[in-house]
Amino acid sequence: MHFLVHNGFLITVGVMGGVHAILLLIMLASGVMPLVQFNILSVIVYTFCLLLCRAGHIMPVYISILLEVTAYTIISTYYVGLRCGTYCFLFSIVPIIIYFGSFLFKGNARWSVALMLLLNFVIFAVLYVTFSEVKPVYIVSPASRITLVLFSSFAMVFSTIFYNFLYIYLSEVEKTDLESRNRQLSADASEDALTGLLNRRGFLPVIENLMQEGGDPHFCIAFCDIDNFKRINDSFGHDAGDEVLTHITGMIKKEMQGCEICRWGGEEIVILMRDYDLAVAKEKLEYLRKSIESNPTAFYNKRIHTTITIGLEENSADYAGPDDIIKVADERMYYGKQHGKNILVFKS
Ligand code: GH3
Ligand code: MG
Ligand code: MG
Repeated sequence: MHFLVHNGFLITVGVMGGVHAILLLIMLASGVMPLVQFNILSVIVYTFCLLLCRAGHIMPVYISILLEVTAYTIISTYYVGLRCGTYCFLFSIVPIIIYFGSFLFKGNARWSVALMLLLNFVIFAVLYVTFSEVKPVYIVSPASRITLVLFSSFAMVFSTIFYNFLYIYLSEVEKTDLESRNRQLSADASEDALTGLLNRRGFLPVIENLMQEGGDPHFCIAFCDIDNFKRINDSFGHDAGDEVLTHITGMIKKEMQGCEICRWGGEEIVILMRDYDLAVAKEKLEYLRKSIESNPTAFYNKRIHTTITIGLEENSADYAGPDDIIKVADERMYYGKQHGKNILVFKS
């Protein structure tokens, strides 16, 4: 259960106990002893409810609140009459029925909330018709009567404001929570878990948007593939292969800062080099290739030497979309594989 609902229950039970403690004093001052006794009972009930709340038993607390308030309204109206306005307590539980009911009852059970609201009104109507012409058992002083009317109507207004506020606040908290989870989900959906690089889903829209900008945007695409990666897996195990992959992608991230990097497939990495022309891109990638060649991966006490083959292509008006240019870079990489590997190919 959400902390705002749980704490909402705790506050409600605490306030209810407090309300009855005040009513106890008013009734004591007015000399209405049966209601003094009832208020003592109510304070005891809410003390138990507090313990139930802490133990997480919310439903019995919800039912106790509704029964106690209904019983108190009927009995107090019988003893001090309608003019003291204690029937307002019946209305003060309307927001409680709705607010907590919406969390406690789901699906078809929600009808029980509507039923409780209807019952609440029926009880009020019966109470009003029954006692409108009946003389109360106790005639309290005007001062006590005014105090009771003001107090019970304040309880009604306060309850309406408080639970509406709580509901709005809870909705806001849940909305923010949902938004941040959505952001996390879309990040997860566009990121590769092992290397932290973009996957195709996250990467392709970046190039698409760039190409849609118009005016032949200036960029290069590098298609990299680790050489003989299967042999690394076969010789050192899959974990070693993973380690090599993270080591190499780490080096690519370091050397190619400012570029968008994508784990295209198993051991294939595609790099979008924005604002690079072919000459500068060549230089940068040649440096990267040599760095990878001279920096083996440390795996336990082993040093695993690895190289990569790269195909490079520069964007031009000939390319209509990301797939076309990536395909050419891939073909060049493939050419490099057939011609000795560990090489950068930048011409067809
Ligand atoms: P080439 O030099 O021609 O690229 O040969 P290669 O062995 O690198 O290429 P090949 O396509 O024959 O094998 C790629 C291997 O990469 C096969 C697959 O099991 C492995 N692989 C793909 N993804 C992962 C991964 O995430 N972790 C590990 N450890 N291995 C992977
Ligand atoms: Mg390979
Ligand atoms: Mg491959």
